[in-house]
Amino acid sequence: MTARILVVDDIPANVKLLEARLIAEYFEVLTAADGMTALSICDQTPVDLVLLDIMMPGIDGFEVCQRLKTNPRTAHIPVVMVTALDQPADRVRGLQVGADDFLTKPVNDLQLMTRVKSLIRFKALSDELRLRAETAHSMGLEALLAPHQGELEEPGMVLLVEGRANAQDRMKRALSGVAECVAIGDPQAALFEAAEKPYELVIVSSALENYDPLRLCSQMRSLERTRFIPMLVVAEHGEEELVIRALELGVNDYLLRPLDPNELVARSITQIRRKRYSDRLRASLSQSVEFAVTDALTGLNNRRYLDTHLATLVERSWRRDRPLSVLITDIDHFKAFNDTHGHEGGDDVLREFARRVRGAVRGADLACRYGGEEFVVVMPDTTFEIAAQVAERLRAAVAAAPFKISASGGAATVTTSVGIATLEKAGEGADALLRRADKALYQAKHDGRNRVVGQAA
Ligand code: GH3
Ligand code: MG
Ligand code: MG
Repeated sequence: MTARILVVDDIPANVKLLEARLIAEYFEVLTAADGMTALSICDQTPVDLVLLDIMMPGIDGFEVCQRLKTNPRTAHIPVVMVTALDQPADRVRGLQVGADDFLTKPVNDLQLMTRVKSLIRFKALSDELRLRAETAHSMGLEALLAPHQGELEEPGMVLLVEGRANAQDRMKRALSGVAECVAIGDPQAALFEAAEKPYELVIVSSALENYDPLRLCSQMRSLERTRFIPMLVVAEHGEEELVIRALELGVNDYLLRPLDPNELVARSITQIRRKRYSDRLRASLSQSVEFAVTDALTGLNNRRYLDTHLATLVERSWRRDRPLSVLITDIDHFKAFNDTHGHEGGDDVLREFARRVRGAVRGADLACRYGGEEFVVVMPDTTFEIAAQVAERLRAAVAAAPFKISASGGAATVTTSVGIATLEKAGEGADALLRRADKALYQAKHDGRNRVVGQAA
């Protein structure tokens, strides 16, 4: 994992120390001795992470962090604030200005590497998702993707895996202001619980009776339902070896006993916030993918989707020696609805038509809006005879009852013409198949509309 890290501190010795440790882990390191320099570096160069001192002449670390987080060009860069151990209030302030994590001076090596690596991993993931989402040209995405800062808008859902009642109580009390906390002593039961409910963080105590906490961590990471839930391990001093192995298994962060309640809260909030952020990214990504293949008016698949999938379906049916049929249907005299009921009324007809198409075909069939008032249904494993029955069912479903037109408050009798074609021989391509169906449709129009025409294979 390589990344570019900016170290900001006004004391040269502090900079040198962090720089040496990071370079030893093969990170690329940039340095700045004051806040303004740090801001201009971040604005001009791609930076993957900022390690930020608080007390500096000129603008201090809080101000630097706030400016980074409010500038859209730099808001996504993770910021780790380096605070003095005896200043818990700094952490609260840091959270308020959007810091992603904290380190206390003197900086411990394990902590440094844990925080840095987990943030860089997170940034790599969100960069990737953001890039893909942008590529899909989804609209209004930026607002959705802005990382949220500060306190949680809604309490988190935390599962606490801890056997000892008094330790459970202490942690529950500490988290009571920010999360709903369920505590379970039995690790196996905890795994099932985590898979059942939408937990946003699992805290695993290293002191589980007769049970290896690492086993729970690794099961959590391999189960589909729990894979994306952040985990935080609470270990004893001297258990650094266990912490390192936990981090290798995908645990996101750790805390050492005796627990500092403020730190427990700050780290829990950070993990929950990050989970919500990547959930949003993932959701918006699948939404933008959906937009790209779905027709917005009718909710059916669009022509782009048909064009990419029909070829695959055709090839598959040759290979398996299975029949495949397509139908093309075009609404009769559609222009007249636009003329009588307006464009909105025409859209109402299209929506209701799509509903009837969906109702007339099987779930396994692929129904698409092919163009204006033209629809295509691809029917795998379907012979010509069956396709003809489906087409007739569709034609009848359209003609059976008038369409309500809410735009004009009226109703209209709609009919449609259908052309069918069935794959004839191995070697016929998707285009040729569609052309034959289109020819049949043309014939249906020519023969007087409101009818089905097909060419048997
Ligand atoms: P035919 O029976 O021969 O198919 O006649 P038609 O009037 O249905 O065919 P034509 O292709 O001449 O007209 C189609 C009309 O569909 C023209 C176009 O303005 C309209 N149209 C295309 N897309 C949309 C749309 O999304 N909404 C609305 N309201 N109208 C559309
Ligand atoms: Mg038409
Ligand atoms: Mg037309």
